[in-house]
Amino acid sequence: MSGVKLEGVVKQYEGGLQVIHGIDLEIRRGEFVVFVGPSGCGKSTLMRMVAGLESISAGTISIDGRVVNELPPRERDIAMVFQDYALYPHKSVYDNLAFGLKLRKTPAADIAKRVADAAAILKITHLLDRKPRALSGGQRQRVAMGRAIVRNAKLFLFDEPLSNLDALLRSEMRTEIKKLHQRIGATTIYVTHDQVEAMTLAERIVVLDAGRIMQVGTPDEIYQRPVSRFVAGFTGSPP
Ligand code: ADP
Ligand code: MG
Repeated sequence: MSGVKLEGVVKQYEGGLQVIHGIDLEIRRGEFVVFVGPSGCGKSTLMRMVAGLESISAGTISIDGRVVNELPPRERDIAMVFQDYALYPHKSVYDNLAFGLKLRKTPAADIAKRVADAAAILKITHLLDRKPRALSGGQRQRVAMGRAIVRNAKLFLFDEPLSNLDALLRSEMRTEIKKLHQRIGATTIYVTHDQVEAMTLAERIVVLDAGRIMQVGTPDEIYQRPVSRFVAGFTGSPP
């Protein structure tokens, strides 16, 4: 069974142009897929449609074999980490991690265990009592990821989660995200415009341009055999 399946997915914003033109893509359960493409090509729109934050104009999206077109976000069992991850400024790190679980009426002992586990994975146990303003950018990003992990979601969506971090932190977080996926094994869709991120994290890369898929393949395939100069430009293949 597939983790995520997109069939003929189209998006036309109200009163606007069509920005996604019939995307067909099947992502295996547990697979790590990276979307790359120029700014404005529709990466975030696709992610938001998978998450249920944006309606789809035509087509079907299935998650673990279930059509989710009409399902609200909270019923899709998805964890999201976006670029402008907003932490609750007045809550401690612990409460930031626990908040979503409390809303779902998770028993307190279960919350404590899940927060402790996520904090250990992300090495933020010593920060649980702090407020977000007392954290570095990288630490905040770890908390944002922690909020996704505690959910035990089946599907992780990352939309340029590292683009606000400096180069050193980006490389550190890249390693963490890779380890996290090896450990948790959840289906993951990851958007980035960073070649290194795409090449090191992806099991398959999906290259998008202007709302269409240009090529899908393993990092090796895309690097060795880009179907066009456009694709080559995104993976740094030699001309
Ligand atoms: P990317 O994430 O690849 O940069 P987006 O999905 O954000 O691309 O945007 C794709 C296209 O859709 C762009 O042309 C953008 O201007 C347009 N767009 C995005 N959000 C909206 C919206 N809420 N209303 C109308 N047009 C939008
Ligand atoms: Mg975007």
